[in-house]
Amino acid sequence: MQLTWNLKELYSSFDSEEFKNDMKRLDECIYEFGDFAEKITKDYDNEVKKIEEYISRKITITKLMVNLDNFISLTLSADTKNEKASKNSDLLEAKMSEMVSPTTRINKWIRGIKDIDSVIEKSSLLKEHKFIIKEIVEKSKYLLSYKEETIISKMKNTGSNAWSKLKDNLISNLKVDIEQDGEMKQLPLTVVLNMAYDKDKDVRKKGYDAEIASYYKVEEGVAACLNGIKGEVLTVCDLRGYKSPIEMTLVGSRMDKESLDAMLTAMKESLPHFRKYMKRKAEMLGYKNGLPFYEMYAPVSSAKMKFTYEKGAEFVIKNFRTFSDDLADFAKKAIDNAWIDVEPREGKVGGGFCSNITTIGESRILLNYGSNFSDVVTLAHELGHGFHGECLKGESILNCDYPMPIAETASTFCETIIKKAAVKEASKDEALAILEQEISDCNQVIVDIYSRFLFEKSVFEKRKESALSVEEIKQCMIEAQKESYGDGLDPQYLHPYMWTWKPHYYYADYNFYNFPYAFGLLFAKGLYAEYLKRGQDFVKDYEQLLAITGRNNIADITKVMGIDIHDINFWRASLKTIEDDIDKFIELSE
Ligand SMILES: [Zn+2]
Repeated sequence: MQLTWNLKELYSSFDSEEFKNDMKRLDECIYEFGDFAEKITKDYDNEVKKIEEYISRKITITKLMVNLDNFISLTLSADTKNEKASKNSDLLEAKMSEMVSPTTRINKWIRGIKDIDSVIEKSSLLKEHKFIIKEIVEKSKYLLSYKEETIISKMKNTGSNAWSKLKDNLISNLKVDIEQDGEMKQLPLTVVLNMAYDKDKDVRKKGYDAEIASYYKVEEGVAACLNGIKGEVLTVCDLRGYKSPIEMTLVGSRMDKESLDAMLTAMKESLPHFRKYMKRKAEMLGYKNGLPFYEMYAPVSSAKMKFTYEKGAEFVIKNFRTFSDDLADFAKKAIDNAWIDVEPREGKVGGGFCSNITTIGESRILLNYGSNFSDVVTLAHELGHGFHGECLKGESILNCDYPMPIAETASTFCETIIKKAAVKEASKDEALAILEQEISDCNQVIVDIYSRFLFEKSVFEKRKESALSVEEIKQCMIEAQKESYGDGLDPQYLHPYMWTWKPHYYYADYNFYNFPYAFGLLFAKGLYAEYLKRGQDFVKDYEQLLAITGRNNIADITKVMGIDIHDINFWRASLKTIEDDIDKFIELSE
């Protein structure tokens, strides 16, 4: 079994003729695209032909970019010090930004078309791309003039982009002073954060204390980054005519406010149940006043299930097959054909991800496989993303981009299949560990995400008036945690600095990058409940649902399964499945 991935399907190397030719061809295509944009936007003659050509050119350019970008970024992620890859990454980034101004010009022109629906109806190519064309019309009402757009995009490089880089720099270089084996040491923040998973209570507490005590070194700088970015977002949002940053995020997510409100209300109703879990976990670990923040990830059982990669892969394929042959065959294909880079090694990025390379109809998955049950779950998770790509195979490449909230559906669904199967085969102690792990993950995605949503909302509200001081930001965080975690957490030990290292608050283009996680989890849970009800009937509909995720609004996608996300009862039912797990956990742990 080959444990490193094969990228030869894309290019043999950076020096190959194919790679060099494609880089050159991309330049030519972008150059011609600029001319084309200028030419067609002069008048409104031959609208159908012009949009058809626009779509065709966009398909050609996107395909080239997908191939080049995947080859470069996949190479880099497996070998971060690869100089050729990082040089080509800069080159490609510059090429991509050349697309901004001609695209703005064409999009504004499309918005000016009198009767877009009848134009679309005249061509099968346009009908196929109806959703994205209509979305261009819808979104370009927020576009400013060609000149203003150029100014904003250039000013961002010295504004929010620069703030965001500074924040990364401050946090990744932050050293935490901590005593270990009678010696004072300076450890990177990531190492200290990992102590939260240690089996020794003293290590967990010591890590937390040292972490909190270290932030004074960077808090002023990081607060300036947050103020700078949130301030810029508010300015741009206002210039573009959005009512608020949340409205901007919803438009970008193809989601409406009713769905978000229904989901948030159901989450709020469910909080007391999660608090029961946290209080039980606190008791198990010997605390009386709720769970201290630093005990959130503490292991509650000593059970350890070991899976070699081969055993893990076999377990995944076997249990995927209980769902469908399509899913199992896909997993087998990915595992057998060297689509997966399995093991951790120096110079490779951490974590895991899946990249669907639509142009070649394949995926590549990066793992840092470590033989624990959680590694098997990650393998299933990433294969879920890959299967989503597999279901999109018959679609136009322009119809393959799905919005943030839907992105974690297929992956979470596959995780659920594997976790449910594992519980069945496990001993009592192992089952408790799997269940606790699952609830702890859900606790993050529901309760912590809820607190992050509240925090971001209040920071935006205050930032409208003026920049926030470090103390004010800490206060916002504590208030959000109290409202969300309630008496589940020990009020003596909250975490006033959770805004410092979480990257999501610092992406100027993706505000409120928190609720999409809750959406993904709860939607996948709702689908799984549907699968349990309908059995094999569900399977084909599920594949169909994944296939249309790139060319519909979220509410229309979910309608395919008869699910109405405006209905609070859908969200309640999903949350109920987690609440049942919590009840089971409390029962098992007694
Ligand atoms: Zn994922």
